[in-house]
Amino acid sequence: MKILIASDIAEEGISKLKKEFDVDIKKGISKEELLSIIENYDGVIIRSKPNITEDIIKKGKNLKVVARAGVGLDNVDVKCCQGLGVKVVNSPQASSDSVAELAFGLMLAVSRNIARADRLTREKKWEKKSLMGYELNGKTLGIIGFGRIGRNVGKIARACGMSLIAYDPLLTDEQIRSGDAEPVTLEKLIERSNVITLHVPLIESTRHMISDKEFQKMRDNTIIINTSRGGIIDEEALCRAIESGKILGAGLDVFEEEPPLNSKLLQYDSVVLTQHIGASTHEAQKRAGIMIADEVIKALKEK
Ligand code: NAD
Repeated sequence: MKILIASDIAEEGISKLKKEFDVDIKKGISKEELLSIIENYDGVIIRSKPNITEDIIKKGKNLKVVARAGVGLDNVDVKCCQGLGVKVVNSPQASSDSVAELAFGLMLAVSRNIARADRLTREKKWEKKSLMGYELNGKTLGIIGFGRIGRNVGKIARACGMSLIAYDPLLTDEQIRSGDAEPVTLEKLIERSNVITLHVPLIESTRHMISDKEFQKMRDNTIIINTSRGGIIDEEALCRAIESGKILGAGLDVFEEEPPLNSKLLQYDSVVLTQHIGASTHEAQKRAGIMIADEVIKALKEK
């Protein structure tokens, strides 16, 4: 059988696949080329690019599996695949630890002014008094979405002396308690947290789930962290909350528009911005490559 790797995946995954199949690698392939060659392949492996759209799936007469290394199937027409009996697989667990560590890093960066202290030091400005921060120890962390990443963030935060409250309407109270968190409603989480961290998928019910109303109900000096998806926080409302002094700051890895070249958020010192790098660690990428290779092998052996 033939596999097309259409994106960057770890060498370890590629070697596994080569032991089982004929493998072609065409990173950064154009849509036109993909359309012209897809019928030669039994499986295609992608990351957040390229898009596997209906026309490509229909052209792929031999296609049996579409594999997305990593989380999120936003760029795959899953419904069309299902209709045509093409299996869709991904490796969502591969980056959970990496994203959780980044989320916690952003909490520290905001609470201790790490990014601003770095900027000032480079500018040769020694302004210790303006860099007074807050401890995380003893504070309440509100976790919205208590899945793989949310739970992992909770573990790190517990080790740092934080207490956990969590909102996840798809889990039972038992499941939330088993992760050392107290289950609460979204409203209570927003009112009680010193730090709020978001770990939900971007779906209709989560789009702009943090907007003006929620910011107004937060405690003064709340820190908000988003490493999930842009669009879950209403960025205009976030700007208003920062300007009014309601919140202490924000740590953001994801944006409504990426890269956020024209975003007002770039102007605030209390916001720490990263470049959708939650999963960008050597360990997560290696894991994603190996896991996706295993998924493809399993899917094609089942056929
Ligand atoms: P997961 O599926 O394990 O957990 C998501 C949780 O959100 C689930 O427990 C689900 O019940 C809950 N949920 C769904 N709707 C909800 C709602 N309306 N309110 C509250 N909770 C709700 O997913 P995960 O692997 O933990 O990933 C979480 C997020 O992180 C996803 O958006 C994913 O795309 C994102 N992510 C970002 C990066 C990055 O590079 N920054 C990397 C990987 C994943």
